[in-house]
Parts: sequence; structure tokens; C-alpha cells
Amino acid sequence: MANVLIVAEQFGGAVRKATLHALSAGREVARRTGGTLHVAVLGSGIGPVAEELAGYGAEVHAADAAVLEHPLAEAHAPVVAELARAVQATHVGAAATAFGKDLLPRVAGLLEAAMATEVLGFGGEGAEVTFRRPMWAGNVLAEVALATPVKVFTVRATEFPAAAKEGKGAVTTAQVSVDAGALRTRYAGFTEVKSARPELTEARIVVAGGRGTKGDFKPIEALADELNAAVGASRAAVDAGWVPNDWQVGQTGKVVAPELYVAAGISGAIQHLAGMKGSKVIVAVNKDPDAPIFQLADYGLVADLFKALPELAEKLKKSR
Ligand SMILES: Cc1cc2nc3c(=O)[nH]c(=O)nc-3n(C[C@H](O)[C@H](O)[C@H](O)COP(=O)(O)OP(=O)(O)OC[C@H]3O[C@@H](n4cnc5c(N)ncnc54)[C@H](O)[C@@H]3O)c2cc1C
Repeated sequence: MANVLIVAEQFGGAVRKATLHALSAGREVARRTGGTLHVAVLGSGIGPVAEELAGYGAEVHAADAAVLEHPLAEAHAPVVAELARAVQATHVGAAATAFGKDLLPRVAGLLEAAMATEVLGFGGEGAEVTFRRPMWAGNVLAEVALATPVKVFTVRATEFPAAAKEGKGAVTTAQVSVDAGALRTRYAGFTEVKSARPELTEARIVVAGGRGTKGDFKPIEALADELNAAVGASRAAVDAGWVPNDWQVGQTGKVVAPELYVAAGISGAIQHLAGMKGSKVIVAVNKDPDAPIFQLADYGLVADLFKALPELAEKLKKSR
């Protein structure tokens, strides 16, 4: 049987949005292989999350144990691998989030499976699924065939629609035989950055600033708040220490695909574009008419951001 197992990500009793996109990808693979879509959810006290996931029509396997309370890849990987064998999964996937990127390589190792990361789509014929993935900061798209019996993959959430509620799958209890005392990694703590703004990868609108801000992100933040947007940044702004590094968008930062991306004082280096070129509408504000960002932008404004952004924010405020 060529079943598909998607590993769900949950936090504080809620399913992470990226998981719904991974479920769509999993459903597509299951349709191709003719197999059943299974979902693994791991944690402690995750009954309600498992029930919620069952609403997406997949067979849900809940691994509920104290040792799985925190997302330690070393503890989670053997549970996922065992489950993959139990449900005869030929394809094991997850969203390419920090959680998925940490966990799935270990799962692939345990299953002696080849792996494709940051998958953007599937190719091949019938059940012979191949994986489309970016290389060289997205300048090359490779189509990869994995030759092992079990194939492991992470998907870029922005490339797949969120799964819709569909029927009601069964929820079963998954085996957990992890010896907490034998683990060599230890959970040290979690520092959550509390923000009134939406999360960068989940926001409908992102307003991002670069070196052109010269370290003054006030106009960026004011416009973001007017639009109920998340704030992003180029690596130049992060490396200069002007903004926290979890704001970074790009090849080595976060990949976003909001409905609207406003890039102000950002030149448009390929490494930055790799993280936002999937955005539906791109607006660039830059003093330099030759800035490469204008080649990608749907709307370009050759202007000083310190003048244009406050004007824009003011107009938005008045239009309410
Ligand atoms: C391996 C690797 C990985 C990388 N990963 C990333 C990544 O994840 N994300 C990322 O962003 N970069 C990444 N980079 C860095 C990338 O190559 C660029 O150096 C960086 O994106 C430049 O940031 P910037 O556009 O803010 O700065 P610059 O390229 O210096 O551009 C600043 C822009 O601001 C404009 N400007 C100046 N003043 C104003 C003003 N008052 N009003 C309007 N416009 C103004 C200028 O005309 C200019 O176009 C990576 C590089 C490497 C080598």
C-alpha cells in the first residue's frame, strides 16, 4: 500500500496554519499513489488537536505522552518513524517550518529514506511522484526523483492551499516507546516574542524595510499598523542589529507569500526575493529607479520612504 503520512505541528493546543498547507500537499500525493492520507500529531494533552485534525478527513494518529510535550526532534522522530512503518507509508511529509526542518531529516534517517526539502510542487507520472524544489536561492527549480522505497519531504507552505474541512477521519492512539532518560537533548526553554501584529509567515499583508531605513523602522511600523500587517526586514537591516532576526525575509530568513508585500528601502537582491517573490501583489518604494526590486514589483514608487510611507499611512487613516 502506498499511504501518505503527514506530521502535524501543534502549539499550545492549536494546529499550526502551515500544517493545513502540508495536508493539501499530502492529499495530492495520496490521490496520485491511490493510498490513504494519515496524520501524526505528537505532544502532551493533544486530544482536542487530534479531533480538530480529524475534521480534515484524514486518519489521525495521536501520540500523547509527557516525553513528547516539547518539540524535541530526538524524542519525536522514532515515534513518527514507527508510525510510518505501522501505516505502511511510502511518503512522509511535513511543512518546511523550523519544526519540520528539525524533525523530518531524523525521520528520514531512521527510515533509511531519501528526502526532498522545501518542495514547491509534484511532478512525474501517476504514482511515480517527483518533487519540485528550489536551488540556488530559487534561481533553479530542480525536479527530484527519490529512489528509496520510503520518501520523506517537507513542503513550502506558501505553495499549497490550506486544506479545507472534509468529512471526519478516525482518531487512533499511536504507540510511544521513547525512554525519556536516554535522550541526549534536553528542553531548555522557549521564549515567545509577544506581538500585537500578525505572525510574519501567516499575515495577509507584510510591510518590510531594508538598509534604506538607515535603522529607523518607525515609518515601516506605522504603515504596518495602519494595514494590520506584519513587519519584515532584509538581512542588511537584521545584520545591522536594527531589528530582530525573526523579522528577516529571504533565503536565510522566512519565506512569505502574503496578498500584499510592501518593500521599502530594499534593493531586491536575489536572496531577499527568494523569500517573498510568491507574494500576490508586490509594492516597492525605493529612491533608486534602477533598483532591481522594480523588475519584480507590481507597483513601484520612486520616492523617499521617509516621505512616501507616512503620506500613505495618513491617507489610509483618513480613508477610514
Ligand atoms: C548566502 C546569503 C544569504 C542571504 N540571505 C538573505 C536573506 O535571507 N534576506 C535578505 O534580505 N538578504 C539576504 N542576503 C543578503 C542580500 O544579498 C543583500 O545584501 C540584502 O538583501 C540587501 O538588503 P537591502 O536591500 O536592505 O540593502 P541594499 O541592497 O543596500 O539596498 C538598500 C536600498 O534602499 C534604497 N534606499 C536608500 N535610502 C532610501 C530612502 N530614503 N527611501 C527609499 N529607498 C531608499 C537604496 O536605493 C537601495 O536600493 C543573503 C546573502 C547571502 C550571500
